[in-house]
Amino acid sequence: MADTTLMDKLVSLCKRRGFVFQSSEIYGGLGSVWDYGPLGVALKRNIKDRWWNSMVHGRDDIEGLDAAILMHPKVWEASGHVAGFTDPLVDCRHCKNRFRADDPRIKGTPGQPDAQCPVCGTRGSLTEPRMFNLMFKTFMGPVEDSAAVVYLRPETAQGIYVNYLNVLQSSRQRIPFGIAQIGKAFRNEITPGNFIFRTREFEQMEMQFFVQPGTDAEWFERWREWRMQWHHSLGLTPAKLQWHQHSGSELAHYARAAFDIQYEFPFGWQEIEGIHNRGDFDLGRHQEYSGKKLEYFDQAQNQRYLPFIVETSAGADRVTLTLLVDAYREEQVEGETRVVLGLHPAVAPIKTGVFPLVKKDGMPEIAATLYHELRQEFACFYDDSGAIGRRYRRMDEAGTPFGVTVDGDTITARTVTVRHRDTMQQERVGLDRVRQYIVDRLGATR
Ligand code: ATP
Repeated sequence: MADTTLMDKLVSLCKRRGFVFQSSEIYGGLGSVWDYGPLGVALKRNIKDRWWNSMVHGRDDIEGLDAAILMHPKVWEASGHVAGFTDPLVDCRHCKNRFRADDPRIKGTPGQPDAQCPVCGTRGSLTEPRMFNLMFKTFMGPVEDSAAVVYLRPETAQGIYVNYLNVLQSSRQRIPFGIAQIGKAFRNEITPGNFIFRTREFEQMEMQFFVQPGTDAEWFERWREWRMQWHHSLGLTPAKLQWHQHSGSELAHYARAAFDIQYEFPFGWQEIEGIHNRGDFDLGRHQEYSGKKLEYFDQAQNQRYLPFIVETSAGADRVTLTLLVDAYREEQVEGETRVVLGLHPAVAPIKTGVFPLVKKDGMPEIAATLYHELRQEFACFYDDSGAIGRRYRRMDEAGTPFGVTVDGDTITARTVTVRHRDTMQQERVGLDRVRQYIVDRLGATR
Protein backbone atom coordinates (compact mmCIF):
# COMPACT_ATOMS: atom_id res chain seq x y z
CA MET A 1 0.00 0.00 0.00
CA ALA A 2 1.51 3.34 -1.03
CA ASP A 3 1.98 5.56 1.99
CA THR A 4 -0.14 8.47 0.82
CA THR A 5 -2.92 6.02 0.07
CA LEU A 6 -2.74 4.75 3.63
CA MET A 7 -3.35 8.27 4.99
CA ASP A 8 -6.21 8.82 2.51
CA LYS A 9 -7.78 5.53 3.49
CA LEU A 10 -7.42 6.29 7.16
CA VAL A 11 -8.99 9.74 6.83
CA SER A 12 -11.91 8.22 4.97
CA LEU A 13 -12.33 5.38 7.49
CA CYS A 14 -12.24 7.92 10.32
CA LYS A 15 -15.06 9.88 8.76
CA ARG A 16 -17.11 6.86 7.71
CA ARG A 17 -16.95 5.16 11.08
CA GLY A 18 -17.15 8.28 13.25
CA PHE A 19 -13.61 8.61 14.57
CA VAL A 20 -12.78 12.10 13.28
CA PHE A 21 -14.72 14.73 11.31
CA GLN A 22 -13.56 18.02 9.88
CA SER A 23 -14.60 20.92 12.09
CA SER A 24 -17.63 22.90 10.81
CA GLU A 25 -17.77 20.63 7.79
CA ILE A 26 -21.15 21.90 6.56
CA TYR A 27 -19.54 25.35 6.17
CA GLY A 28 -16.61 23.97 4.21
CA GLY A 29 -14.46 23.14 7.24
CA LEU A 30 -12.03 25.19 9.31
CA GLY A 31 -8.33 24.85 8.49
CA SER A 32 -6.64 22.12 10.50
CA VAL A 33 -9.25 21.87 13.21
CA TRP A 34 -10.90 18.49 13.73
CA ASP A 35 -13.77 17.05 15.76
CA TYR A 36 -13.81 13.61 17.34
CA GLY A 37 -16.88 11.48 16.67
CA PRO A 38 -18.27 8.71 18.91
CA LEU A 39 -15.49 6.19 18.26
CA GLY A 40 -12.73 8.81 18.16
CA VAL A 41 -13.65 10.39 21.46
CA ALA A 42 -13.70 6.93 23.07
CA LEU A 43 -10.28 6.06 21.64
CA LYS A 44 -8.71 9.35 22.71
CA ARG A 45 -10.31 9.14 26.15
CA ASN A 46 -8.88 5.64 26.62
CA ILE A 47 -5.41 6.95 25.74
CA LYS A 48 -5.74 9.87 28.15
CA ASP A 49 -7.06 7.59 30.90
CA ARG A 50 -4.17 5.24 30.41
CA TRP A 51 -1.72 8.14 30.63
CA TRP A 52 -3.45 9.54 33.73
CA ASN A 53 -3.46 6.11 35.39
CA SER A 54 0.22 5.58 34.73
CA MET A 55 1.16 9.09 35.91
CA VAL A 56 -1.24 9.96 38.71
CA HIS A 57 -3.07 6.88 40.05
CA GLY A 58 -0.12 4.58 39.60
CA ARG A 59 2.40 6.68 41.52
CA ASP A 60 2.72 8.32 44.93
CA ASP A 61 4.96 11.11 43.70
CA ILE A 62 2.79 12.77 41.02
CA GLU A 63 -0.27 14.97 41.57
CA GLY A 64 -2.91 15.95 39.02
CA LEU A 65 -3.87 19.48 37.97
CA ASP A 66 -6.35 21.16 35.65
CA ALA A 67 -5.27 24.77 35.10
CA ALA A 68 -7.28 27.28 33.06
CA ILE A 69 -6.56 27.87 29.37
CA LEU A 70 -6.49 31.66 29.88
CA MET A 71 -3.61 32.89 32.02
CA HIS A 72 -2.14 36.21 33.08
CA PRO A 73 -0.41 37.72 30.02
CA LYS A 74 2.83 38.08 31.99
CA VAL A 75 3.09 34.30 32.12
CA TRP A 76 3.86 34.31 28.40
CA GLU A 77 6.42 37.09 28.77
CA ALA A 78 8.19 35.12 31.48
CA SER A 79 8.04 31.87 29.53
CA GLY A 80 9.62 33.48 26.48
CA HIS A 81 6.59 32.86 24.25
CA VAL A 82 5.79 36.53 23.54
CA ALA A 83 9.33 37.20 22.32
CA GLY A 84 10.33 33.85 20.94
CA PHE A 85 7.43 31.59 20.02
CA THR A 86 7.70 32.53 16.39
CA ASP A 87 8.20 31.02 12.98
CA PRO A 88 9.59 32.94 9.98
CA LEU A 89 6.92 33.20 7.31
CA VAL A 90 6.65 34.52 3.78
CA ASP A 91 3.58 35.58 1.80
CA CYS A 92 2.93 35.21 -1.89
CA ARG A 93 1.77 38.63 -3.13
CA HIS A 94 0.16 36.96 -6.12
CA CYS A 95 -1.96 34.07 -4.74
CA LYS A 96 -1.97 35.29 -1.09
CA ASN A 97 -0.81 31.94 0.27
CA ARG A 98 1.44 31.92 3.32
CA PHE A 99 4.38 29.59 3.95
CA ARG A 100 7.11 28.95 6.46
CA ALA A 101 10.29 30.52 5.10
CA ASP A 102 12.01 27.15 5.35
CA ASP A 103 9.27 25.32 3.42
CA PRO A 104 11.24 22.81 1.31
CA ARG A 105 8.88 23.38 -1.64
CA ILE A 106 10.11 26.99 -2.07
CA LYS A 107 12.69 27.33 -4.84
CA GLY A 108 15.15 30.22 -4.43
CA THR A 109 15.43 32.79 -1.64
CA PRO A 110 12.22 34.43 -0.44
CA GLY A 111 12.32 38.21 -1.02
CA GLN A 112 14.56 37.77 -4.09
CA PRO A 113 13.38 37.84 -7.74
CA ASP A 114 14.38 34.18 -8.27
CA ALA A 115 12.10 32.82 -5.52
CA GLN A 116 9.14 30.86 -6.79
CA CYS A 117 5.79 30.40 -5.05
CA PRO A 118 5.19 26.67 -4.51
CA VAL A 119 1.44 27.06 -5.09
CA CYS A 120 0.93 29.44 -8.04
CA GLY A 121 4.46 29.19 -9.44
CA THR A 122 4.90 32.98 -9.78
CA ARG A 123 8.52 34.16 -9.61
CA GLY A 124 9.54 37.09 -7.41
CA SER A 125 6.18 37.19 -5.61
CA LEU A 126 7.39 35.94 -2.22
CA THR A 127 7.95 38.54 0.52
CA GLU A 128 11.00 38.72 2.78
CA PRO A 129 10.58 36.40 5.78
CA ARG A 130 9.07 38.03 8.85
CA MET A 131 8.57 36.60 12.29
CA PHE A 132 5.08 35.42 13.10
CA ASN A 133 3.98 34.64 16.65
CA LEU A 134 2.12 31.35 16.88
CA MET A 135 0.01 32.29 19.90
CA PHE A 136 -3.69 33.01 19.41
CA LYS A 137 -4.67 36.33 20.94
CA THR A 138 -8.03 37.27 22.31
CA PHE A 139 -9.48 40.01 24.50
CA MET A 140 -10.64 39.79 28.05
CA GLY A 141 -13.50 42.03 29.11
CA PRO A 142 -15.52 44.34 26.87
CA VAL A 143 -12.75 46.65 25.66
CA GLU A 144 -10.67 45.56 22.69
CA ASP A 145 -7.45 47.33 23.56
CA SER A 146 -4.01 45.96 24.11
CA ALA A 147 -4.30 46.17 27.90
CA ALA A 148 -6.95 43.47 27.76
CA VAL A 149 -5.06 41.07 25.47
CA VAL A 150 -4.86 37.49 26.69
CA TYR A 151 -3.56 34.42 24.89
CA LEU A 152 -4.95 30.96 24.38
CA ARG A 153 -2.22 28.85 25.96
CA PRO A 154 0.18 27.33 23.42
CA GLU A 155 1.20 24.62 25.93
CA THR A 156 -0.13 23.33 29.23
CA ALA A 157 3.23 23.39 31.03
CA GLN A 158 3.06 26.99 32.24
CA GLY A 159 -0.13 26.28 34.20
CA ILE A 160 1.89 23.71 36.12
CA TYR A 161 4.87 25.99 36.84
CA VAL A 162 2.77 28.83 38.21
CA ASN A 163 0.89 26.38 40.46
CA TYR A 164 3.93 24.45 41.61
CA LEU A 165 4.00 25.95 45.13
CA ASN A 166 0.21 25.61 45.53
CA VAL A 167 0.37 21.92 44.67
CA LEU A 168 3.49 21.30 46.72
CA GLN A 169 2.02 22.86 49.84
CA SER A 170 -1.51 21.53 49.55
CA SER A 171 -0.50 17.96 48.74
CA ARG A 172 2.39 17.86 51.26
CA GLN A 173 4.67 16.38 48.62
CA ARG A 174 8.43 16.65 48.85
CA ILE A 175 10.94 16.96 46.08
CA PRO A 176 11.33 14.89 43.94
CA PHE A 177 7.71 15.04 42.83
CA GLY A 178 5.69 15.78 39.73
CA ILE A 179 2.52 17.46 38.48
CA ALA A 180 0.53 16.03 35.59
CA GLN A 181 -2.03 17.75 33.43
CA ILE A 182 -4.08 16.99 30.34
CA GLY A 183 -5.60 19.88 28.44
CA LYS A 184 -6.12 21.86 25.29
CA ALA A 185 -3.40 23.98 23.72
CA PHE A 186 -3.61 26.27 20.69
CA ARG A 187 -1.01 27.22 18.10
CA ASN A 188 -1.61 29.25 14.99
CA GLU A 189 0.60 26.87 13.00
CA ILE A 190 1.61 28.19 9.58
CA THR A 191 1.91 24.80 7.98
CA PRO A 192 -0.42 22.47 9.80
CA GLY A 193 -1.43 19.24 8.20
CA ASN A 194 -1.24 15.50 7.97
CA PHE A 195 -4.74 15.10 9.37
CA ILE A 196 -4.66 15.30 13.20
CA PHE A 197 -0.84 15.26 13.34
CA ARG A 198 -0.38 19.04 13.39
CA THR A 199 -3.49 21.02 14.18
CA ARG A 200 -4.25 24.48 15.52
CA GLU A 201 -6.20 23.21 18.52
CA PHE A 202 -4.92 20.07 20.22
CA GLU A 203 -4.57 18.32 23.54
CA GLN A 204 -1.38 17.80 25.47
CA MET A 205 -0.58 15.30 28.20
CA GLU A 206 2.23 16.93 30.15
CA MET A 207 4.06 16.02 33.32
CA GLN A 208 6.62 18.24 35.00
CA PHE A 209 8.90 16.53 37.51
CA PHE A 210 10.63 18.76 40.09
CA VAL A 211 14.01 17.52 41.28
CA GLN A 212 17.02 18.63 43.26
CA PRO A 213 19.67 20.22 40.99
CA GLY A 214 22.37 17.67 40.32
CA THR A 215 19.92 14.77 40.24
CA ASP A 216 18.27 15.97 37.03
CA ALA A 217 20.37 13.94 34.57
CA GLU A 218 19.53 10.74 36.42
CA TRP A 219 15.79 11.56 36.53
CA PHE A 220 15.88 12.51 32.88
CA GLU A 221 17.17 9.05 31.97
CA ARG A 222 14.53 7.36 34.12
CA TRP A 223 11.75 9.35 32.53
CA ARG A 224 13.06 8.58 29.08
CA GLU A 225 12.86 4.88 29.81
CA TRP A 226 9.40 5.05 31.40
CA ARG A 227 7.92 7.07 28.60
CA MET A 228 9.17 4.72 25.89
CA GLN A 229 7.76 1.78 27.89
CA TRP A 230 4.39 3.53 28.00
CA HIS A 231 4.26 3.85 24.22
CA HIS A 232 5.18 0.18 23.90
CA SER A 233 2.37 -0.67 26.32
CA LEU A 234 -0.12 0.78 23.81
CA GLY A 235 0.80 -2.06 21.47
CA LEU A 236 2.67 0.10 18.94
CA THR A 237 5.08 -1.72 16.62
CA PRO A 238 8.45 -1.43 18.44
CA ALA A 239 10.46 -1.06 15.21
CA LYS A 240 8.44 2.05 14.37
CA LEU A 241 9.48 3.89 17.52
CA GLN A 242 12.84 5.58 17.91
CA TRP A 243 14.69 8.28 19.83
CA HIS A 244 15.77 11.53 18.31
CA GLN A 245 18.23 13.62 20.31
CA HIS A 246 18.18 17.40 19.98
CA SER A 247 21.64 18.78 19.57
CA GLY A 248 23.17 22.23 19.12
CA SER A 249 20.85 24.65 17.39
CA GLU A 250 17.88 22.30 17.68
CA LEU A 251 17.89 22.60 21.49
CA ALA A 252 15.25 25.03 22.76
CA HIS A 253 16.49 28.02 24.78
CA TYR A 254 15.24 26.46 28.03
CA ALA A 255 16.56 22.94 27.52
CA ARG A 256 19.71 21.37 28.92
CA ALA A 257 18.90 18.12 27.13
CA ALA A 258 16.03 17.01 24.92
CA PHE A 259 14.96 13.77 23.29
CA ASP A 260 11.92 13.12 21.14
CA ILE A 261 10.12 9.85 20.85
CA GLN A 262 9.44 9.51 17.14
CA TYR A 263 7.11 7.25 15.22
CA GLU A 264 7.52 6.25 11.60
CA PHE A 265 4.40 7.74 9.99
CA PRO A 266 3.62 7.30 6.27
CA PHE A 267 5.00 10.85 5.93
CA GLY A 268 8.27 10.06 7.74
CA TRP A 269 9.70 9.82 11.26
CA GLN A 270 8.00 12.45 13.42
CA GLU A 271 7.85 13.47 17.06
CA ILE A 272 5.00 12.19 19.22
CA GLU A 273 6.45 13.11 22.61
CA GLY A 274 9.28 15.29 23.89
CA ILE A 275 11.29 14.66 27.07
CA HIS A 276 13.20 17.72 28.20
CA ASN A 277 15.58 18.60 30.99
CA ARG A 278 14.57 22.24 31.52
CA GLY A 279 16.90 23.01 34.44
CA ASP A 280 15.66 25.92 36.57
CA PHE A 281 14.78 28.08 33.58
CA ASP A 282 11.02 28.13 34.11
CA LEU A 283 10.85 28.61 37.86
CA GLY A 284 13.70 31.12 37.61
CA ARG A 285 11.84 33.21 35.06
CA HIS A 286 8.53 33.08 36.94
CA GLN A 287 10.32 34.06 40.13
CA GLU A 288 11.87 37.01 38.33
CA TYR A 289 8.72 38.19 36.55
CA SER A 290 6.28 37.67 39.43
CA GLY A 291 8.59 38.82 42.19
CA LYS A 292 7.45 35.80 44.26
CA LYS A 293 9.98 33.43 45.79
CA LEU A 294 9.57 29.99 44.27
CA GLU A 295 12.43 28.28 46.10
CA TYR A 296 12.03 25.00 47.90
CA PHE A 297 13.39 24.40 51.37
CA ASP A 298 14.80 20.91 51.53
CA GLN A 299 14.59 19.92 55.18
CA ALA A 300 16.59 16.73 54.81
CA GLN A 301 19.49 18.59 53.17
CA ASN A 302 18.88 21.80 55.10
CA GLN A 303 19.19 23.87 51.95
CA ARG A 304 17.11 26.15 49.76
CA TYR A 305 17.08 25.83 45.99
CA LEU A 306 15.08 26.33 42.82
CA PRO A 307 14.16 22.84 41.66
CA PHE A 308 15.18 21.63 38.22
CA ILE A 309 12.43 20.31 35.97
CA VAL A 310 12.26 17.21 33.81
CA GLU A 311 9.32 17.46 31.45
CA THR A 312 7.47 14.79 29.49
CA SER A 313 5.16 16.28 26.88
CA ALA A 314 2.98 14.17 24.60
CA GLY A 315 0.14 15.09 22.26
CA ALA A 316 -3.10 13.17 22.81
CA ASP A 317 -4.13 13.73 19.19
CA ARG A 318 -0.76 12.63 17.85
CA VAL A 319 -0.81 9.48 19.94
CA THR A 320 -4.34 8.83 18.65
CA LEU A 321 -3.13 9.21 15.06
CA THR A 322 -0.14 6.98 15.82
CA LEU A 323 -2.41 4.22 17.11
CA LEU A 324 -4.70 4.49 14.10
CA VAL A 325 -1.83 4.40 11.60
CA ASP A 326 -0.15 1.52 13.40
CA ALA A 327 -3.38 -0.46 13.64
CA TYR A 328 -4.70 -0.08 10.08
CA ARG A 329 -4.39 -3.09 7.82
CA GLU A 330 -6.12 -4.68 4.87
CA GLU A 331 -6.31 -8.40 4.20
CA GLN A 332 -7.75 -10.50 1.42
CA VAL A 333 -10.31 -12.90 2.86
CA GLU A 334 -12.35 -15.12 0.55
CA GLY A 335 -11.92 -12.71 -2.37
CA GLU A 336 -12.91 -9.66 -0.32
CA THR A 337 -10.86 -6.96 1.33
CA ARG A 338 -11.10 -7.07 5.10
CA VAL A 339 -10.21 -3.73 6.75
CA VAL A 340 -9.02 -4.17 10.32
CA LEU A 341 -7.97 -1.75 13.01
CA GLY A 342 -5.81 -3.99 15.16
CA LEU A 343 -6.03 -1.71 18.20
CA HIS A 344 -4.78 -2.93 21.57
CA PRO A 345 -7.89 -4.10 23.50
CA ALA A 346 -7.14 -1.65 26.32
CA VAL A 347 -7.58 1.37 24.02
CA ALA A 348 -10.17 0.01 21.57
CA PRO A 349 -13.29 2.23 21.66
CA ILE A 350 -15.62 -0.77 21.74
CA LYS A 351 -14.44 -3.94 23.43
CA THR A 352 -17.11 -6.36 22.32
CA GLY A 353 -19.85 -6.68 19.73
CA VAL A 354 -22.89 -8.72 20.78
CA PHE A 355 -24.91 -10.42 18.04
CA PRO A 356 -27.93 -12.69 17.93
CA LEU A 357 -27.26 -15.03 14.98
CA VAL A 358 -30.88 -14.69 13.83
CA LYS A 359 -33.79 -12.60 15.04
CA LYS A 360 -35.83 -15.55 16.33
CA ASP A 361 -35.83 -18.64 18.59
CA GLY A 362 -35.16 -16.55 21.70
CA MET A 363 -31.70 -15.47 20.50
CA PRO A 364 -32.35 -11.68 20.52
CA GLU A 365 -33.62 -11.88 24.12
CA ILE A 366 -30.55 -13.74 25.39
CA ALA A 367 -28.23 -11.47 23.38
CA ALA A 368 -29.89 -8.31 24.72
CA THR A 369 -29.62 -9.55 28.33
CA LEU A 370 -25.96 -10.40 27.80
CA TYR A 371 -25.34 -7.02 26.15
CA HIS A 372 -26.82 -5.17 29.15
CA GLU A 373 -24.73 -7.26 31.52
CA LEU A 374 -21.47 -6.73 29.61
CA ARG A 375 -21.91 -2.99 29.13
CA GLN A 376 -21.85 -2.55 32.91
CA GLU A 377 -18.17 -3.53 32.67
CA PHE A 378 -16.92 -2.21 29.33
CA ALA A 379 -18.04 -0.57 26.07
CA CYS A 380 -20.17 -2.90 23.93
CA PHE A 381 -22.13 -2.65 20.71
CA TYR A 382 -25.33 -4.56 19.92
CA ASP A 383 -25.97 -5.39 16.29
CA ASP A 384 -28.72 -7.61 14.93
CA SER A 385 -28.87 -6.44 11.33
CA GLY A 386 -27.41 -8.16 8.28
CA ALA A 387 -25.41 -11.33 7.77
CA ILE A 388 -23.17 -12.27 10.69
CA GLY A 389 -20.05 -11.97 8.48
CA ARG A 390 -20.96 -8.35 7.68
CA ARG A 391 -21.49 -7.59 11.33
CA TYR A 392 -18.04 -9.00 12.16
CA ARG A 393 -16.47 -6.87 9.41
CA ARG A 394 -18.10 -3.71 10.74
CA MET A 395 -16.56 -4.42 14.13
CA ASP A 396 -13.14 -5.19 12.54
CA GLU A 397 -13.11 -1.70 11.01
CA ALA A 398 -13.98 -0.13 14.35
CA GLY A 399 -11.11 -1.99 16.04
CA THR A 400 -13.38 -4.10 18.29
CA PRO A 401 -11.30 -7.04 19.54
CA PHE A 402 -14.12 -9.49 20.36
CA GLY A 403 -17.47 -10.52 18.92
CA VAL A 404 -19.93 -12.61 20.92
CA THR A 405 -22.62 -14.44 18.98
CA VAL A 406 -25.70 -15.99 20.52
CA ASP A 407 -26.70 -18.95 18.33
CA GLY A 408 -28.54 -22.27 18.38
CA ASP A 409 -26.08 -23.84 20.83
CA THR A 410 -26.70 -21.02 23.27
CA ILE A 411 -30.27 -22.22 23.58
CA THR A 412 -29.36 -25.89 24.00
CA ALA A 413 -25.90 -25.82 25.65
CA ARG A 414 -25.71 -22.31 27.22
CA THR A 415 -22.54 -21.47 25.29
CA VAL A 416 -21.76 -18.56 22.93
CA THR A 417 -19.29 -18.11 20.07
CA VAL A 418 -16.44 -15.71 20.83
CA ARG A 419 -14.83 -14.49 17.65
CA HIS A 420 -11.38 -12.89 17.73
CA ARG A 421 -10.80 -9.87 15.49
CA ASP A 422 -7.13 -10.48 14.67
CA THR A 423 -7.17 -14.21 13.90
CA MET A 424 -10.89 -14.49 13.04
CA GLN A 425 -10.82 -17.69 15.08
CA GLN A 426 -13.91 -18.68 16.97
CA GLU A 427 -14.30 -20.60 20.18
CA ARG A 428 -17.14 -21.60 22.42
CA VAL A 429 -17.37 -20.13 25.88
CA GLY A 430 -20.01 -20.69 28.55
CA LEU A 431 -22.65 -17.96 28.63
CA ASP A 432 -22.02 -17.42 32.33
CA ARG A 433 -18.23 -17.22 31.81
CA VAL A 434 -18.06 -14.87 28.84
CA ARG A 435 -17.91 -11.64 30.88
CA GLN A 436 -14.86 -12.80 32.83
CA TYR A 437 -13.33 -14.30 29.67
CA ILE A 438 -13.31 -10.87 28.01
CA VAL A 439 -12.25 -8.94 31.11
CA ASP A 440 -9.21 -11.23 31.37
CA ARG A 441 -8.20 -10.35 27.82
CA LEU A 442 -8.67 -6.57 27.85
CA GLY A 443 -5.22 -5.91 29.28
CA ALA A 444 -4.31 -3.98 32.37
CA THR A 445 -5.28 -0.34 32.46
CA ARG A 446 -1.73 0.75 33.11
P1 ATP B 1 6.60 20.07 16.41
O1 ATP B 1 8.08 20.28 16.21
O2 ATP B 1 6.08 18.80 15.80
O3 ATP B 1 5.78 21.27 16.09
P2 ATP B 1 7.06 20.78 19.07
O4 ATP B 1 8.48 20.36 19.28
O5 ATP B 1 6.72 22.20 18.87
O6 ATP B 1 6.40 19.86 17.94
P3 ATP B 1 6.30 20.53 21.77
O7 ATP B 1 6.16 21.97 21.96
O8 ATP B 1 7.45 19.81 22.40
O9 ATP B 1 6.20 20.17 20.24
O10 ATP B 1 4.92 19.84 22.20
C1 ATP B 1 4.87 18.57 22.81
C2 ATP B 1 3.93 17.64 22.09
O11 ATP B 1 2.69 18.29 21.81
C3 ATP B 1 4.43 17.17 20.73
O12 ATP B 1 5.28 16.05 20.87
C4 ATP B 1 3.15 16.81 20.04
O13 ATP B 1 2.76 15.49 20.38
C5 ATP B 1 2.16 17.79 20.60
N1 ATP B 1 1.95 18.91 19.65
C6 ATP B 1 2.68 20.03 19.53
N2 ATP B 1 2.19 20.83 18.56
C7 ATP B 1 1.11 20.19 18.06
C8 ATP B 1 0.16 20.49 17.04
N3 ATP B 1 0.21 21.63 16.36
N4 ATP B 1 -0.82 19.60 16.79
C9 ATP B 1 -0.91 18.44 17.48
N5 ATP B 1 -0.05 18.10 18.45
C10 ATP B 1 0.95 18.94 18.75
